[in-house]
Amino acid sequence: MESRGKQPAFFFDFDGTLVNIAATPGDVRLKMITRQILEGIAEEYPVGVISGRKLDELKRLVGIRGLYYSGNHGVEIEGAGLDFVEPVSARSSAYITCLGKSMASALSKFSPRINSKKYSVSVHYRNVEASLVRGLLRRVDELLEEPLLKRQIEVFHGKKVVEIKAPVDWDKGKAIELICRKIGRNSVPVFFGDDTTDEYGFRAVNKIGGVSVFVGKRHRQTDARFWVKSPSELAGELAKFLFEA
Ligand SMILES: [Mg+2]
Repeated sequence: MESRGKQPAFFFDFDGTLVNIAATPGDVRLKMITRQILEGIAEEYPVGVISGRKLDELKRLVGIRGLYYSGNHGVEIEGAGLDFVEPVSARSSAYITCLGKSMASALSKFSPRINSKKYSVSVHYRNVEASLVRGLLRRVDELLEEPLLKRQIEVFHGKKVVEIKAPVDWDKGKAIELICRKIGRNSVPVFFGDDTTDEYGFRAVNKIGGVSVFVGKRHRQTDARFWVKSPSELAGELAKFLFEA
């Protein structure tokens, strides 16, 4: 992959990309083999993991030193010389945290899993009884109507999750661009992702001549140009790359 002095920099989403999505996000574990493959790649190339999870939690779950880590869909970034929080998100943190608390109490009868992540709140409903999901989502819409009208928040729908964050012009694609600028002009990003917020990453890497790879069953529209069908197939491809490189 090294041609004309260009060098790949590998970026991965976490849930659904490096690990299978678990019924409870807290139950997720990175497989030992995947961790070893990532460590091997990181010895040769820059590696970043960019997730919707909170940065601290992401670092703990991946557990490899020396990588770039980005939490909250790109809002917070750490790694070799980078310590970044997107400024509007930083200012909105207290409001978003407060909103998370009020949503937790307003939605308690549906028992979703509400994860307050400092710069965003996620409402996971994978474990909510199927007959209650419509009611839950209707209640979420009601609760978010006013802050949406006042442009205090932005809302995204992912896989059985509603994500709420400050309305900022910032996403996983911008985080990848920022890290690539830090790494240097010869880096070509290769980005793997599985969900709606990863589309920003796919479009960003396509634009700068990188490689975009969708992970999962091909059941929806994606801007990714390549495809592997599961986190284990991805791990297998990475292992091949590592040993053939
Ligand atoms: Mg994902």
